[in-house]
Amino acid sequence: MTAIVKERLLDERLAKLETARSWSPRLVSKLESHIRFADDEALFRINPFNFARERSLGENEVIDLLLHATSLGLFGMDWLLLCPKCSCVVESLRSLEGVHRHYHCSACQVDLEAPLDD
Ligand SMILES: [Zn+2]
Repeated sequence: MTAIVKERLLDERLAKLETARSWSPRLVSKLESHIRFADDEALFRINPFNFARERSLGENEVIDLLLHATSLGLFGMDWLLLCPKCSCVVESLRSLEGVHRHYHCSACQVDLEAPLDD
């Protein structure tokens, strides 16, 4: 299935992203290519470290790029609480405000404590 892209909106946001700061040559065009041609799964859980490694880019710059892209509405960001025993996603949050120290993994039936500085 081909994704429907709102061309004008995408162009406007990519143009803003290009001027957000000074980027390495072609960095924004590599992200645009990813947005246009990657499959849904690759777009749904874009990993900045994998994106950087696969394209021989600097990790810090890619993280910065994706944070700027998120602030422009090109991506959304979730925070996940993972169970350290089974790696299941125990909770998915839209902001860090909702993160709390104590949580429960129903798969493992254990109460856990999140190291909030990690
Ligand atoms: Zn678990």
